[in-house]
Amino acid sequence: MIGKTVLVTGGAGFIGTNLTARLLQEGASVIIVDNLQTGEMANLARFDKKLPLKFLRADISDPLPALGHVDEIYNLACAASPPHYQADPVHTMMTSVTGTLQLLRLAEATGARLVMASTSEVYGDPKEHPQRESYLGNVSTTGPRACYDEGKRAAETLCSDFQRRGVDVRIARIFNTYGPFMRSDDGRVVSNVICQALTDQDITIYGEGHQTRSFCFVDDLVDGLMRLMHVKTAPDGPVNLGNPEEFTIREMVDVVLERIETRSAIVHRPLPQDDPQRRCPDIGRARELLGWEPRIPFRVGLLQTIGWFSAALEDRAEATAQRAAVA
Ligand code: UDP
Repeated sequence: MIGKTVLVTGGAGFIGTNLTARLLQEGASVIIVDNLQTGEMANLARFDKKLPLKFLRADISDPLPALGHVDEIYNLACAASPPHYQADPVHTMMTSVTGTLQLLRLAEATGARLVMASTSEVYGDPKEHPQRESYLGNVSTTGPRACYDEGKRAAETLCSDFQRRGVDVRIARIFNTYGPFMRSDDGRVVSNVICQALTDQDITIYGEGHQTRSFCFVDDLVDGLMRLMHVKTAPDGPVNLGNPEEFTIREMVDVVLERIETRSAIVHRPLPQDDPQRRCPDIGRARELLGWEPRIPFRVGLLQTIGWFSAALEDRAEATAQRAAVA
């Protein structure tokens, strides 16, 4: 990656920070564009100041700042957790539509390659299991998740249209991902359950917990995204990136509770509207086209993630204590 300049939109967020770390480690210069809606400067503050990293605070749904020459673009900018992307649904949709359009135009103007972070949410509440890329999905156009799901579906459409006119675009459909640099208030099940268990709060299972998800450790995902960027010929159509190890939410909670000693009780909350009942990637295409498959089982990645949240919660408690002492 030495000599290459890589633009990472959403680079101060969970996946973006992990990807940036890997790109810098491999010798790339990185430009991050992030509006800090869910990304955090504290993530970037961990990088050595001498590394070739430039941060621009900007929203990709507004006109883009001047960026100069870039070789590669990873479009990771978008709130991805249901409570965060539903907080401002119109903005979520425009991030995926206007934001992606502007980045595609940038790629067209500069000859940069673009990897688009799409999502397993394009399959909605799937009627086919596991989900292959050929499955067209079962998505509500009007429900509370539509701003994200339909925004990403529209982004895939734009990417495909630009690809047909010669722009080098690759689409990753990312399944549930977890690991260090997740926010403790992210609102997704892995961060909620770990943080609840670590702080003896009630563990919230939505519905009966029979719904399934398949959790991919972030290092595996970053590896998949980089392989997708670097494979010689752009795949014809999207590629699923996820870990096919499938758990019911109840099973996943039990795995966490095997690893954290806690006084937390399990409580049930109503299942959110349009919550997908089953989700598991078929990763045949990623195996074949990218030579990629996840290497880190959930039980292993979970330990690192628990370590990350323990430290994050301690830092937060320390900061609160310091503020109280000053007041
Ligand atoms: N979920 C849960 N408790 C929580 C947060 C989420 O039981 O505290 C459930 C949620 O209803 C869904 C699954 O866990 O069925 C995964 O939710 P998440 O928000 O992590 O991701 P997504 O629904 O986007 O896959």
